[in-house]
Amino acid sequence: MRIDIISIFPGMFAAVLNESIIKRAQAKGKVKLSVHNLRDYTRDKHKKVDDRPFGGGSGMVMTAEPIFNAVEHIKSQCSAEGGPAYGGHKVTKSQVILLSPQGKKLDQKIAKRLARHKHLILICGHYEGIDERVRQYLVDQEISIGDYVLTGGELPAMVLVDCLVRLIPGVLGDKNSLADESFEAGILEYPQYSRPAVFRGRKVPAVLLSGNHKKIEAWRRLYALKATKKKRPDLLQKKGEIQR
Ligand code: SAH
Repeated sequence: MRIDIISIFPGMFAAVLNESIIKRAQAKGKVKLSVHNLRDYTRDKHKKVDDRPFGGGSGMVMTAEPIFNAVEHIKSQCSAEGGPAYGGHKVTKSQVILLSPQGKKLDQKIAKRLARHKHLILICGHYEGIDERVRQYLVDQEISIGDYVLTGGELPAMVLVDCLVRLIPGVLGDKNSLADESFEAGILEYPQYSRPAVFRGRKVPAVLLSGNHKKIEAWRRLYALKATKKKRPDLLQKKGEIQR
C-alpha cells in the first residue's frame, strides 16, 4: 500500500510515522508513506496557500490551486513509476481522501474498506477549511475521526494511517490478535491479564490459569459480551439488527 499525505506542517508526522509498528511496516516494505509539503506546490512567491473567504467571514481558507497541483503531481509520479505503487501492487486508481469533520465517521468497517486500496492520497486541511472546489472536483471521499473540530487534518491523518497500517497483512505479528480485537466481531475485546497471577491481593480469574482452552474460550466470549453490554450496548443492538 502506498499513502501520500499532503500537509502544511509535514514536520508533525515524523514522531508518529518513524516509530514502532508503522516504522517496522515501512522497513518491511508493507507500506510506503510520503509526506508532501503543500507549500512546495504553490506558485505564490511567498508560498501562500490560504486566502480570505469570498463573501466575508472570519479566518482563512486554503486555496484550491496548490492542493490540485499536489494531488496531480503525486498521481503523475505514481503512473510514471509504471503504476505499481509498492510491494508489486498495481495502482489502478488513487483514492483521494480529505480529512474533514464533515466526513464519514471513521470506524473499523470503513478502515477495512479503505485498507483494500493500493494508493491513498490524504489531504490535511487547516484554518477555516478548504476551497469547496477541492471537495467537489478532487476528493473521492471525506473522512472524519469524530464529531469534534480540531485545528488541522494532521492528527486525523495520523489516526487513519495508524488504523490502516495495522490492517495490512503481515504488519502485526499474530494474525489472531486482529481477529479477537474490539469491533472485529462487532463486540469489544475480552479482558486481558498478565503476570503476576496475584497483584496486591487481586487474583487473575482462575479459568485463565487452568490451561483448559475450551473453558478459556467460553470465558472470553462471555466477558467480551459483558464488557460490550456494559460499555457499548449500542454495538450489541447493531449486531442484533444485522443478524435479524
Ligand atoms: N470550518 C470547518 C472546520 C475546519 S477545521 C468546518 O466547520 O467544517 C480545520 C481542518 O482540520 C479541517 O479542514 C480538517 O482537515 C481538519 N479536521 C478538524 N476536525 C476534524 C475531524 N473531526 N476529523 C477529520 N479532520 C478534521
